[in-house]
Amino acid sequence: MKSRKKRPRDEFSDLPISRQSRYRARQRRDGRCIECGAPAGKASRCLRHLTLARERERKRLGLKRRYFGSMGYRMESANQTFQ
Ligand SMILES: [Zn+2]
Repeated sequence: MKSRKKRPRDEFSDLPISRQSRYRARQRRDGRCIECGAPAGKASRCLRHLTLARERERKRLGLKRRYFGSMGYRMESANQTFQ
């Protein structure tokens, strides 16, 4: 009899949420990008995906203003020591 795929059990295993939500919850807990798994620090996504998500939301909501205090911008400016 074939054994079923084993998954690591943790606090998210028994939650009534989708597989994707669980994956994201784990990534968030581990300080990783919820889309690609790269180290993301305090943000929920890496800088690249943070920017992508931000622009996607902007398009969806039709926003005109930019909130320069938000996580993504702060990370961007922290990374740009040259320029
Ligand atoms: Zn990413």
